Amino acid sequence: MAAHSTSPRTTDPRPHVLVLGGNFAGLGVAQKIREFAGDAVRITVVDRKSRLLYVPNIPLEVFENRNPAENLFMDIVRPLADDGIDFVRAEVNAIDPVAKSVRWTPDERPGSASETCRYDYLVVALGNRLAFDRIEGYAEHGHSVTDTFQGEKLRRYLHEDYRGGPIAIGSARFHQGDGARGLEPYPSGAIPYALAACEGPPVEVMLSMADWLKRHDQGGPEKVTVFTPGELIAEDAGVQVVDQLLGIAGRMGFKYLNKVGDIKRLTAAGVEFLDGRSVEAELKIVFPDWRAHDFLRGLPIADSEGFIVTDLTMRNPDFPNVFAVGDCAAVTVPKLGAIGHQQAEIVGRRIAHDLGRLADPGAPLAPVVYCIGDMGSGRAFYIRSNSWFGGDTQILKMGRVPHLLKMHYKTMFYERHGKVPAWGLDAAELLAEKVFV
Ligand SMILES: Cc1cc2nc3c(=O)[nH]c(=O)nc-3n(C[C@H](O)[C@H](O)[C@H](O)COP(=O)(O)OP(=O)(O)OC[C@H]3O[C@@H](n4cnc5c(N)ncnc54)[C@H](O)[C@@H]3O)c2cc1C
Repeated sequence: MAAHSTSPRTTDPRPHVLVLGGNFAGLGVAQKIREFAGDAVRITVVDRKSRLLYVPNIPLEVFENRNPAENLFMDIVRPLADDGIDFVRAEVNAIDPVAKSVRWTPDERPGSASETCRYDYLVVALGNRLAFDRIEGYAEHGHSVTDTFQGEKLRRYLHEDYRGGPIAIGSARFHQGDGARGLEPYPSGAIPYALAACEGPPVEVMLSMADWLKRHDQGGPEKVTVFTPGELIAEDAGVQVVDQLLGIAGRMGFKYLNKVGDIKRLTAAGVEFLDGRSVEAELKIVFPDWRAHDFLRGLPIADSEGFIVTDLTMRNPDFPNVFAVGDCAAVTVPKLGAIGHQQAEIVGRRIAHDLGRLADPGAPLAPVVYCIGDMGSGRAFYIRSNSWFGGDTQILKMGRVPHLLKMHYKTMFYERHGKVPAWGLDAAELLAEKVFV
């Protein structure tokens, strides 16, 4: 078996694929490259942590009163080693696409010297920085569910300190770059310009929160205001789906504010918005701007906001040996793991095709929003939609089957170390849309 943690082997003559980032997009793309290109390449994954964080289930753990850090990390070193993929635990500091090199600093212990590594193919899968530090008052007054630290802070507040006051849930304004302009993923379609990075989570948290309030005799949806900088919340799900969701939410008693501009500041009393409005709230659960990492800004492979520019084959047009997958890619809008999953397959095929290992390079990206959000008490909503990009599908289902699918997907992901077979998604579609609901 391969060693657990190795430095990239420089004597290996095979083309070197360097994957930056080892969460959903990075792990997935490394596995797909190995699947399609076989032993034609050596592959190295670099991440500052050696565990995958299973982000989508953080809200569920919080509302079920479990510390999300206890259940949502999966080791990636052994699964990668089992596929003959090297792992380097390091902080990526710089990319030089002209010299085809990356500089990183090993970060197992402080004081490491920076190293430079050359690549033949580079796949950037570094996600984004979630800019809580740009929301005034967040540290003192804000909560969220975007990582286990935030999730645990919210769990403790909710289950130990909550005084029964009003609750506000929503997103800060997302600043999308110009890197996906002109792309046409469906005939006459586009990658739209989004004002919020990912609004499945606020919808999920609002519905789960109402259920939690009821279960704890603290009221219900009437205590919750949901807000969005956009024209419509979760508009990437498609107008029909959002109309359905808003209709249901309105009848349940949720309050809704749209086009708020941005979050101006959080205070003890509530949320103040850029457009001058405000909402009173004891608990403020917010989703920040998804911003590109600082060291990516200004690179010749990055767009006006630092997101990595690609075409719909996930390849950079100026540096064809550079690809991007997942949240860091300019075309990934909304910032959804399911879209990164679609992109990982594309990159695996393209690199294998380049190397003569695969005759068919596969189809370019035709993004589909797949989202299964928890609603509490064993129920969830399921969305499959591509209408925002110019497609014709908009499906919303709610009930127990989507919840079972959400839990089953996580079990399958852990058991198969991230190698979720295509039939996993197909089966989910079939179950959620046709058989049971
Ligand atoms: C609450 C919540 C619920 C969600 N639910 C869903 C859902 O139901 N379905 C769905 O499809 N999506 C969902 N998402 C979105 C999903 O979590 C993201 O789209 C997904 O995590 C993106 O994967 P990624 O690998 O591109 O980026 P990330 O998950 O952000 O991973 C980036 C990796 O890069 C590493 N990294 C970053 N910078 C450096 C550096 N300089 N040096 C070394 N390593 C670095 C990080 O350590 C990390 O491992 C949800 C998001 C949230 C917040």
